[in-house]
Amino acid sequence: MNTATIATWMNESAISIRLERDHLVQLDAAIGDGDHGTNLTRGFDAVVKALGAEDGLPPGRQLVLAGRTLVSAVGGASGPLWGSALRRAGRALGEEPDFGPDQLVAALEAGLAAIVDLGQASPGDKTMVDALAPAVAALREGVAAGRPLPEAVRDAAVAAEAGRDATIPMQARRGRASYLGERSIGHQDPGATSAALIVRALERAIARER
Ligand code: ADP
Ligand code: MG
Repeated sequence: MNTATIATWMNESAISIRLERDHLVQLDAAIGDGDHGTNLTRGFDAVVKALGAEDGLPPGRQLVLAGRTLVSAVGGASGPLWGSALRRAGRALGEEPDFGPDQLVAALEAGLAAIVDLGQASPGDKTMVDALAPAVAALREGVAAGRPLPEAVRDAAVAAEAGRDATIPMQARRGRASYLGERSIGHQDPGATSAALIVRALERAIARER
């Protein structure tokens, strides 16, 4: 995996977030302020543009640039959270032109840790962490078991989607939705929904290798 992998991942993320923009807006309108779809569409469009303007950045630096871009383009909670995740994932990849499955796992673990450090959400709090934590765990386990990477990433995407669905009966304990208390129960978390899209986008980027 290399620069093209990251470019495809960010591109595929931007495409599916744009396609799901109105759905993400609806989900956030139900338990938040209705800006999640527009926030992330604007953010990932800016990321694609920023990466397109920079030729020959190593993958780690691409992710750092993507994270910086998200922080400056997105006002809501999800901008700084995804921004720090991608920056920390990028720093984990370093300056090498290529990376393998173990480095991908380490980068995604670092990204998840950045989200948890900043947002202080635990699994079960009805946030993006409920999609991302099981995804990263599935990827780590698949890679450790020696499964082919495309299969391990597919498992991660399935785990993210199951985690997303599991947010429906949860009561929100972090972010705007937590202000609703029990009224947040019965709604799918918007941030977990977009997180599952971003993991699916990674699956497509990796399936396209070779
Ligand atoms: P805002 O809530 O500022 O309007 P967004 O609508 O873009 O920001 O994002 C909302 C999503 O961000 C939520 O659905 C949730 O998944 C995620 N989120 C909010 N606060 C936190 C947090 N402290 N930790 C992790 N994720 C969070
Ligand atoms: Mg919002």
